[in-house]
Amino acid sequence: MLLLEDPTKTFPKRVWYEKAEIEKIAETCLKNADWPKIDKGPAIDIDRVVERLGFDLDIRDLPESVLGTTIFTNTGKAIICVSPALYEGLENSPGRRARLRSTLAHELAHALLHAEVFKEAQKGAMCRSEASGGEEKAYKGEWWEYQANLGMSAILMPEKLFTAYALKVKVDGQWVDPLVRTLADRFEVGLAATAYRLMGMNILSPDEVRDLSELGYA
Ligand SMILES: [Zn+2]
Repeated sequence: MLLLEDPTKTFPKRVWYEKAEIEKIAETCLKNADWPKIDKGPAIDIDRVVERLGFDLDIRDLPESVLGTTIFTNTGKAIICVSPALYEGLENSPGRRARLRSTLAHELAHALLHAEVFKEAQKGAMCRSEASGGEEKAYKGEWWEYQANLGMSAILMPEKLFTAYALKVKVDGQWVDPLVRTLADRFEVGLAATAYRLMGMNILSPDEVRDLSELGYA
């Protein structure tokens, strides 16, 4: 981890992580939370991770189109806030569940990765809006959102566990689209996030992910 100049001038400094560091931070966070899974897994029980790490979860009305926010406090413990709208219509909607889960994991990643820069900047909160961060890849170049999305992927699709599953499913001879759908279903995450995670692990190539975007979900 390094502190560098912030090119966006939003903060006095930007924090810079190697991707491997983010994987490690996610793994440590899951270990500290005792690896809670939903129905024995592989999907990570993100609510329980947040709870076990001692972060307060606050379900509160946020400005329109904002799904979640992380508030940094003087005590050093961040408060993770999510919109009550995320809790609507969860039953029978894997997509909505994935959206709630990815928002929680994204905000948790801010809490884990960005306390230091926030303390220096004396800024209170980071927001996740539907427009800029509703989909995992759709950040507009803000380094803190990019890092939070990497953290979100690393928490919900832990490197070793996810790779083992992905290679097993892929060996079973599934094509790319069913592979992504199967993994998204098992890990309870979005299709686009799954496709990008697979690409980040070199299990899918950029060309294969581009083909998926033509199916309308990446
Ligand atoms: Zn964010």
